[in-house]
Amino acid sequence: MKLQSILDEVRALPGTDELIPVINPVTEEQITEFADGGAKAVDEAVSRARASFDSGVWHGLPGNERAKILWRAADLIDEHAAELAEIDSLNTGMPLAQAQSIIGTSAEFFRYYGGWCTKLNGISHDIQMTGGITGVYSNMHGYTIKEPIGVAALILPWNGPVFNAAAKLAPALAAGCSVVVKPAEETPLSALLLVKLLAQAGVPDGVVNLVNGHGHTTGAALTEHPDVDKIAFTGSTEVGKKIVQAASGNLKKVTLELGGKSPVLIYDDADLNKAILMAAMGIFVHSGQGCVCGSRIFVQRGVYDQVVEGIATVAKNLKLGGPQEVGSNIGPLISQKQLARVLGFIDEGKRDGVEVVAGGHRLDRSGYFVHPTVLTDVSPDMRLYKEEIFGPVVPIMPFDDDDEVIALANDTSYGLAATAWTQDVGRAHRLAKRLDAGTVTLNCQLVFDHAMPFGGYKQSGWGYEFGREGIEAYMKTKSVFTQI
Ligand code: NAD
Repeated sequence: MKLQSILDEVRALPGTDELIPVINPVTEEQITEFADGGAKAVDEAVSRARASFDSGVWHGLPGNERAKILWRAADLIDEHAAELAEIDSLNTGMPLAQAQSIIGTSAEFFRYYGGWCTKLNGISHDIQMTGGITGVYSNMHGYTIKEPIGVAALILPWNGPVFNAAAKLAPALAAGCSVVVKPAEETPLSALLLVKLLAQAGVPDGVVNLVNGHGHTTGAALTEHPDVDKIAFTGSTEVGKKIVQAASGNLKKVTLELGGKSPVLIYDDADLNKAILMAAMGIFVHSGQGCVCGSRIFVQRGVYDQVVEGIATVAKNLKLGGPQEVGSNIGPLISQKQLARVLGFIDEGKRDGVEVVAGGHRLDRSGYFVHPTVLTDVSPDMRLYKEEIFGPVVPIMPFDDDDEVIALANDTSYGLAATAWTQDVGRAHRLAKRLDAGTVTLNCQLVFDHAMPFGGYKQSGWGYEFGREGIEAYMKTKSVFTQI
């Protein structure tokens, strides 16, 4: 499907009179616009999803049939990888190579969860209990049945449009749910093509439904809708809390993948060349707009100056530019709003006396580009140290020993990810136990796997995506007791 037809189709989406512009963050020009879906579009999408779920047209298929359709979807995503990558890089400004590699990973979600369709078994159990009301528990057997939860609302952020959609669509569909997907208002384009590919793969009509629009209108209508059984949300902690409140009306099941302020610990015995490069890319990649970006770096005092200089050198050498600009390895921030927010944190830090070792300003050109920024002389009471910036900005602090750095690393309301760089294997694993985060990476960074559960501790989330936990989040369990 050609880009122009996607842009035209987005423009023709039904909705309210409010038009939302889609902006190219590299040129700051409008690419297209679309109507905010609002409550009416949500109502229609939810009733299509409900009708398809109640008919059993999807969850009633044998698991191996659903699996074949999801594998076909993966193949179709691979076949259309170039178009999907072009759309996502245009819409987010991310380098084309990065967008391409993310599309490959997204297709794998459908292969991985396709495999689960034939493995959704409960347990079988001989009833052991004695006593109780009747006191008669002999010759009884129990078993559990795994059932899809029903209609799931999938609410997505803008930072990896196809990836975030696939990470929720694949397990939801493998579980047998019908879904309503709401992409972020900044990035409505690629979901349109993805949904068409799912239909082409054989997902029946009405099972996957798309709504587009603002969070406070279309998103809110979805989270309050009485016919939605489950919400899977990725986005900010602030909106996550609103979703929990909105879901209370019919006590929807909720999973939340939220923000982070992830610590990176670099010890003096680390492989410093590797640690410096990975810690730098671990925050500057995608201009810091990744939930697991290592946005607070702690360096053991003996190698502090060397590491600060190394990370600053990487920051200064990164080439910022749009996907079409040769040699660029970092794109812009997504929007004017994010640009203002990130520059606000930097300016506040400068006023509070931080030292700017690299960056600290936007680029003198079109686009929402902020130069990768390294800050020192930062104290733990500063906002830029405590709050998620979601930009290419990193404070670097010194530490002396394990107890001190663990206390600093865990002193945050977030708990999404943490990293330790040390060649002392015993210490690495002791740190993994003590770091209060859902994902810990040792001597590596920005790693994930479709089969490894991903979820946030503390205010970084509720529940898990990926792995077995990821599909169980879209299922409910029925216990059956029988006299034999
Ligand atoms: P956001 O919370 O502003 O928006 C996310 C989505 O929620 C959008 O689709 C938006 O329209 C919708 N939304 C907003 N208000 C809503 C409401 N009241 N009701 C229902 N829906 C509403 O987040 P963002 O700015 O798009 O994304 C950035 C945030 O996402 C960062 O905090 C980042 O850490 C987080 N994130 C987390 C993960 C993860 O897996 N943990 C992954 C990517 C991004």
